[in-house]
Amino acid sequence: MLPVLGQLYNFDPILLLDLCVSNIPLASPSPCLSCGACCSFFRVSFYWGEADSAGGQVPDILTSKVNHVYSCMKGTEQRPGRCVALLGEVGSQVRCSIYQNRPSTCREFSCHSETPVGNPDCNRARAAHGLPALPDQAWETLDPVG
Ligand code: SF4
Ligand code: SF4
Repeated sequence: MLPVLGQLYNFDPILLLDLCVSNIPLASPSPCLSCGACCSFFRVSFYWGEADSAGGQVPDILTSKVNHVYSCMKGTEQRPGRCVALLGEVGSQVRCSIYQNRPSTCREFSCHSETPVGNPDCNRARAAHGLPALPDQAWETLDPVG
């Protein structure tokens, strides 16, 4: 997780967080392809300038205004929430319908088992949907020497 997102994580108890959701990779067999929990748990907020009407890439029609600085993916501003761009069934098979145009928060959110530093919020979202925690990345993949 990027440092700026880490700062935002700590921690709104009602989970309306200005953070980020799923970096759903295209390559299988990523756990994300059968998950989607983060897209249905956090408020997916981002700087409004990422919207296409402001010169960005996120389709305006799929966003909601949060305040004068932030927008969010529509559907994630409520609880329970679910991003309108998420296709499929959480915990089974999912896909981001705007993968190439998803906001930076989604791009920067890491799957816990796919980053050396891990991402507890990935497993937190999974737990909220009754999905098992993903394991830490194996140490041997971090240190090929020796
Ligand atoms: S909660 Fe974790 S495993 Fe699930 S889609 Fe998000 S990043 Fe991927
Ligand atoms: S834009 Fe895509 S990756 Fe981001 S929350 Fe919505 S479905 Fe998930």
